[in-house]
Amino acid sequence: MKDPFLITKEEILQLYKPVNPNTHKGLQGHAVIIAGSYGKIGAAVLASKSCLKTGCGLVTTFTSKCGYQILQISIPEVMVITDENTNFITHIHLPLTPQAIGIGPGIGKELGTQKALFEFLRINKALLVLDADALNILSENQSWLELVPENTILTPHPKELERLIGKWNSESEKFQKTIAFSEKYKVIIVMKGAPTYIINQSKIYENTTGNAALATAGSGDALTGILTSLLAQGYEPKYAAKLGVFLHGLTADIALPKTGYQSFTASDIIKNLGKAFL
Ligand code: AMP
Ligand code: MG
Repeated sequence: MKDPFLITKEEILQLYKPVNPNTHKGLQGHAVIIAGSYGKIGAAVLASKSCLKTGCGLVTTFTSKCGYQILQISIPEVMVITDENTNFITHIHLPLTPQAIGIGPGIGKELGTQKALFEFLRINKALLVLDADALNILSENQSWLELVPENTILTPHPKELERLIGKWNSESEKFQKTIAFSEKYKVIIVMKGAPTYIINQSKIYENTTGNAALATAGSGDALTGILTSLLAQGYEPKYAAKLGVFLHGLTADIALPKTGYQSFTASDIIKNLGKAFL
């Protein structure tokens, strides 16, 4: 394996685009989060909240009907559109044209949800982040990967990566296979772990923030929201991936002296996004 490039604070400061004082919400990007199913609406809440707190102007969440009140009450700033089905997503209809869409946290793998993802990928025009069960569905229907647009950001954790690219026998084989996948589909792979690597075709970048406190439920859902927000704000996917993983890790570094490893939760990621930006 080639030596990865380290993602440094200096590089991040160069990528970062300060907010224009004359901006308005219509210029800050509209992001859509497609997430949640019965018992996993929390994934939609965490992804949507972190999306909003990363700075895009508008967030719309698409979820199953059972998530409607939960989302409206827990995040009043977010607009909500629901599927006709109560418990899981069966048909993704978006009467809007967002710049970026993050799809996958907590959606499950019901047959109806699989079909909904296939139909969505056929018509989608927005920049994409694919996570969690969206990745698992694609792993089981590999021919659908041809529908994934170039420069989509995929965020697999190790098990999701294995389902996507198959088992590996060594670290170097894992990287070889991930690079081959990234080159074949021209996508950016955020290989989540300790540390997180970003694979952009033949290039490997290593994140330098984050700690074991992030090994907690909902941590990846928050990352999906962060990345989707950055895409919606006009960051190119390769820069959104770097800035997003760096900020996500930094929230945990900032929170650690107060929460310790044990009591840090994914909500602490959201709580500390402001400080990470500052
Ligand atoms: P997920 O498994 O989808 O919830 O994603 C977990 C998130 O937490 C990813 O961004 C991982 O990189 C991060 N993470 C998990 N464990 C660690 C660890 N030990 N050190 C640093 N980051 C971690
Ligand atoms: Mg996850």
